[in-house]
Amino acid sequence: MTPEHRTWHHWTSDVTCVTLEPMQVRDLLRRKGSDVVTIVPGATVSDALALLAEQRVGAVVVSDDGHRVDGILSERDIVRRLARDGAATIDQAVSTLMTTDVVTCTPDDGVDQLMATMTEGRFRHVPVTELGLLAGIISIGDVVNARVRELEQETHHLTNYISGY
Ligand code: AMP
Repeated sequence: MTPEHRTWHHWTSDVTCVTLEPMQVRDLLRRKGSDVVTIVPGATVSDALALLAEQRVGAVVVSDDGHRVDGILSERDIVRRLARDGAATIDQAVSTLMTTDVVTCTPDDGVDQLMATMTEGRFRHVPVTELGLLAGIISIGDVVNARVRELEQETHHLTNYISGY
């Protein structure tokens, strides 16, 4: 069974079967909100490090106007550049380290597909856009938390079904 084809069922006590829709990115955003930490391309790595630490995030979206995605900069980009250039990295511009080929998703996308995209692409952050403008960001942590909640709910429904509630 592929993730796209999985549907969720729960059985109420009168044994009617209710199909729950597969979770979408919009469901995650409803819970976590649409705030995205952004930085301008001309900022330095030092500015980015301060922002990552202050906001307690692992990646920032690089955006000139705060709405369009110009790139993404994660802790990993900084670590790799540090390994290459050493302390000089600190003064380099974010635009010289960021990934410009950013994979984004939309609120309509399914969470299962997003998880597969993150796994295949080996990245842990995906900005959400609507009509080309930033509408949120989903991290691997958000996806894992949502899946755990979903599994807990399913366990709860099945336990109730088995015990006849
Ligand atoms: P991460 O796992 O998110 O910390 O990022 C690992 C690497 O993938 C870094 O080089 C990031 O710049 C890059 N990256 C992160 N998110 C994305 C994304 N959504 N699309 C493309 N590259 C990304």
